[in-house]
Amino acid sequence: KPANMNGDGIGNQKPKAVDVAEAVQKARDTFNRGVTRPIEWRRQQLKNLLRMYEENKSAMIEALRKDLRRSKMEAVLLEVDYLINDIKSLLHHLDEWSKPEKPEKGFVNMLDEVVIYNDPYGVVLVIGAWNYPLQLLLLPVSGAIAAGNTVIMKPSELSVACANFVAEMVPKYLDNDAFIVVEGGPKETTELLQQKFDYIFFTGGTSIGKIIYEAATKNLTPVTLELGGKSPVYIDNTGDIMITAKRVLWGKFINSGQTCIAPDYILCTKEVQDKFVEAAKKILREWYGSDAQKSADFCRIINNRHFSRLQAIVDASKDKIAIGGSYDANDKFIEPTVLTNVTASDKIMQDEIFGPLLPIVTIENAYEAIKFINEREKPLVLYVFSKNSKVVSSFVDNTSSGGMCINDTMMHMGVETLPFGGVGASGMGSYHGKKTFDTFTHKKSCLIKNFSPIGEKLASGRYPPYTDANLNM
Ligand code: NAD
Repeated sequence: KPANMNGDGIGNQKPKAVDVAEAVQKARDTFNRGVTRPIEWRRQQLKNLLRMYEENKSAMIEALRKDLRRSKMEAVLLEVDYLINDIKSLLHHLDEWSKPEKPEKGFVNMLDEVVIYNDPYGVVLVIGAWNYPLQLLLLPVSGAIAAGNTVIMKPSELSVACANFVAEMVPKYLDNDAFIVVEGGPKETTELLQQKFDYIFFTGGTSIGKIIYEAATKNLTPVTLELGGKSPVYIDNTGDIMITAKRVLWGKFINSGQTCIAPDYILCTKEVQDKFVEAAKKILREWYGSDAQKSADFCRIINNRHFSRLQAIVDASKDKIAIGGSYDANDKFIEPTVLTNVTASDKIMQDEIFGPLLPIVTIENAYEAIKFINEREKPLVLYVFSKNSKVVSSFVDNTSSGGMCINDTMMHMGVETLPFGGVGASGMGSYHGKKTFDTFTHKKSCLIKNFSPIGEKLASGRYPPYTDANLNM
């Protein structure tokens, strides 16, 4: 039985050097031996992974605290419990999702079997991001296991403590020949991408996503790209502004804005902007007190490079700050900040913000907001706050985004039956719930005939010499 980890020493270990080519070959040999095919074997591995989570909850919380100064509540809600519930659902549905499907068949196949087998792809590469370092890596990994693949997993090198946790724990709980952790950054990932995989699942920024996609084309490897971008929020004047502000600010400031589906910027009229700012002042004081730096519930920026990037945006936006605006480099702290009367040409509107800065761009109406959105890359998610169903429909019908969430933020991600993913620059493919299982499954179509003389006679018209008698003309 694997030893528990109490959290001490996590985040201090140097990555273990792994021979990448050897690791991939080992995973391939294991797959080719058929080890991962039996459903019972997969079930056991999923149970082991569940045990890994349940026996190491405090180590996971501690690793997240070290990497992001994540509060216990956010660590449990967004990663630990999220992973546990996901595995439980996979275990519950494993038989149902993996069994062969029997689609409808036409008259000509009345005597045949028509089957779709749920076939594993083979060796899967899963590359994780640092902002939700456990969930974004291990959620796809568990789907790949359930679907019968072997997996090479590469945690982000920036969330050091979580990468160490994964590298230390996975070999203790999962089959070492089938599931292998490769630690490292761009150099190791580049080495990995020189290998042949049967599926690549990547979570990260759009620019690296393009590198992954290009590498995958060499072997015609299918990919899922879970990318980022600027997710807009449209707010009209029909909803409850206090509830709206709470839901927007929560989605923005959770994990200090380092969330792929964080509301990136708000589009609203000047009138709504004023009301939003008033509400936001009250709410932020209630949540984080008069000094957010002292709040135990507010995360830190992952590293100095990202801190400097955000600091430069704050410095360039000084005249537009309505709330917040302070920072402390020694603590990698940036105050929850709201900026008003921002324009499309401002620095903050050029790239995904990925930090606790919320700009408001004023527009005249929904039509102008839709135009603004459609002039830019397709977002991962579009948020609309309105009680007017016609307004909501006009956004649904006239914009393209990975997903939409109406009158809330982030919560669509927790709906297991809603596939989660981007479109265009925000990604391709999706996962969550059954879609995760299907993502790592090749739908292998199969027609099964028999040797019945009746069937043979009925279909004998296909053989030469041909006569027009069998044609419906
Ligand atoms: P990133 O693209 O910098 O890194 C992601 C992974 O790519 C890491 O494992 C990293 O080691 C690897 N990598 C970095 N440089 C590489 C290179 N040159 N060649 C090959 N691999 C390389 O992303 P990040 O900073 O970890 O995460 C932030 C981004 O991810 C944001 O854009 C965010 O929106 C996006 N994101 C998307 C989702 C989603 O589900 N769609 C979730 C979280 C984050």
